[in-house]
Amino acid sequence: MKGFTTKAIHVGRDLFRKWFGDVVEPIHLSTTFAKERLEDVEKGYVYSRTGNPTREVLEKRLAALENGRYALAFSSGMAAETSIILSLLGKGDHIIAFDDLYGGTKRLFNKVMERFGIEVSYVDLRFTEALEEAFQDNTRLVWVETPTNPLMKLADIRAISDIAHAHDTLVVVDNTFASPYFQRPLELGADIVVHSVTKYIAGHSDVVGGAVVTNDEKLYKRLKFHQNALGAILSPFDSWLVLRGVKTLSLRMERHQYNAMNIARYLESHDMVDRVYYPGLESHPQHELAKRQMYGYGGMLSFEIRGGLREAKRFVESLEIFSLAESLGGVESLIEIPALMTHASISRDERLKIGLRDSLIRVSVGIEDLDDLINDLERGFEVISSD
Ligand SMILES: *Cc1c(COP(=O)(O)O)cnc(C)c1O
Repeated sequence: MKGFTTKAIHVGRDLFRKWFGDVVEPIHLSTTFAKERLEDVEKGYVYSRTGNPTREVLEKRLAALENGRYALAFSSGMAAETSIILSLLGKGDHIIAFDDLYGGTKRLFNKVMERFGIEVSYVDLRFTEALEEAFQDNTRLVWVETPTNPLMKLADIRAISDIAHAHDTLVVVDNTFASPYFQRPLELGADIVVHSVTKYIAGHSDVVGGAVVTNDEKLYKRLKFHQNALGAILSPFDSWLVLRGVKTLSLRMERHQYNAMNIARYLESHDMVDRVYYPGLESHPQHELAKRQMYGYGGMLSFEIRGGLREAKRFVESLEIFSLAESLGGVESLIEIPALMTHASISRDERLKIGLRDSLIRVSVGIEDLDDLINDLERGFEVISSD
């Protein structure tokens, strides 16, 4: 099995098929597993937090999609991130992180991990010179997100991995925005991939989950020990929902990208738009890097509407197909204003420092018909211009 879509549909299926011929993996609910003999009590499945057959099929499948050897499924993306840090770091350790990170990751680092004596430096990882200068004797992890949320900045995973490895430091890549269909960080030298499977992998806005993928057996064993010890596992039902969703990941991503590319071009030529951020556009300052390290550009984009917060608010409230909502990666199109929603917890000064203006609008482009989406956006612009 080599092709992405074949793997997304079939990897792991034998675990159940050998018993009853299941074509779809069942939701295996038993919390505990009986043994015939005392000497077998620690063999195979023992207790469902430690190992569950439905979750195991999902873990095998997610590993295969990232071209990795091992994966672990968690109850949310944040649970996956927390488990990575508690598995690998301790008091006095230091993380170098991209300064344009998912808000929840920044909150975890600043409000939780710092309390336990873990230090974090934020660096603009678009520039590798800045990374080189940030290393300390106690640096243990470089935390990368690419493309970032919401400004679609990119980090060069291969260059960063080379530098980090020269400093005996591991590289974690949050691959949520691209999904494994469009980017596979392990192929580029990263040590650990983390996902919010809530987004594209599950894809239907009906399950919260997370995952960690690696090729390194030692790292995997450590992470697996902590998955069990900390307990933030994905439930059998949620594992099943993700297994169902992931089968169509490639088809969905192709359509997300087709719609996003066309909407990005439409917005770029619109006189009520100041700027569009989408890595697939030639005008994106890191378009060449995107071409080199990604297999596609994904379904997320942002743009600055002419005017300010007032215009941005009027615009997003006047749409019918785009839902005004946080989150991303589902089949339905979502729209939001980062300054008021996903990034409201960051101070305005700090937002402006990373380039996030009040007039910025973030779009998770869904898989609806392109004409309907563009007509909806056009209606929004008409509402503002008639004000
Ligand atoms: C949503 C998200 C997370 C957090 O995942 P949850 O499943 O919501 O806990 C982490 N990173 C990125 C880039 C995200 O979009």
